[in-house]
Amino acid sequence: MQDTIPIAPSSSTPPTLILPSPATHFSQRADRFEQLAPGHALGDFLQFMAALARAQHAALQQLTPPALPDAAHLERARTHGMPPLAAQSLPRDAAWHSALYQVLDALVPTANSASAALLAELRALPAERWEAMAARILDTDFSGPDARHYPLVAAALQVYWVQLVTSLPVQAYAPLDVRNVCPACGCLPLGSVIGAHADVTGLRYAQCALCGTQWNVTRASCLACGAGEDRVGYHSIEGDTGPMQAESCDECHSYFKLLRRDKEGSADLTADDLASLALDMLLDDAGFARGGPNLLFVPGES
Ligand SMILES: [Zn+2]
Ligand SMILES: [Zn+2]
Repeated sequence: MQDTIPIAPSSSTPPTLILPSPATHFSQRADRFEQLAPGHALGDFLQFMAALARAQHAALQQLTPPALPDAAHLERARTHGMPPLAAQSLPRDAAWHSALYQVLDALVPTANSASAALLAELRALPAERWEAMAARILDTDFSGPDARHYPLVAAALQVYWVQLVTSLPVQAYAPLDVRNVCPACGCLPLGSVIGAHADVTGLRYAQCALCGTQWNVTRASCLACGAGEDRVGYHSIEGDTGPMQAESCDECHSYFKLLRRDKEGSADLTADDLASLALDMLLDDAGFARGGPNLLFVPGES
């Protein structure tokens, strides 16, 4: 099933950039969480994440069209090779608040008493606190007194940014000189996917942790420092035949998850990442630091 919009669907050259499809981006993720949950050691968590992805899908369908930057801003971004919707600097429309309200309300029926209390606490916080949390998350700074709330705030920000990046025509985006940030919103990649789209089997795309945009990157190269294939290594859990691997770099000692979607078409980078935390422990033990943030999971917070 086609789940993404290629920048040049009829071209014989592969797209350099693939935008998320608002109709399926979160619903296919929810399906994948539901597929992964039964019999998994983290089954309850993955089931909750399925409900979260469903809530994101519903919130996205109801979001009002966002305020977009003017033509001069877009032209400047193009000229200077900058992401046109830079998440760290673009003023945020309060529309993302309504996405957060919707996500929180949709999760109430599935929540146990502890998480219901957390949902209520977050819902009651003033907008300035939400904005302060958003600023930290978009800065990939997961510290601070409100860290327990970050995954749900990030879920609403993802809804908002998927709508934002898909509100501009694909021509608004161009490949950047730096390959380790999203060409649409400037955020870090969560990891990368091989076989991201039916038309691009065998090619590798980095995927934005925030807006889900995918951009073409060279196979066997470090997403953080660009080191080539003689410096990267591959890891998987022994005996695990799943589609998730990790690609580590001996140059900068980081690692990123690598999803072999060519092996499992229903796989989703965000969902399969959270279902493969054992792989993160393996890489941590081997002395590598995680390079790609999963905004829905703050290590050390439940
Ligand atoms: Zn992005
Ligand atoms: Zn590296």
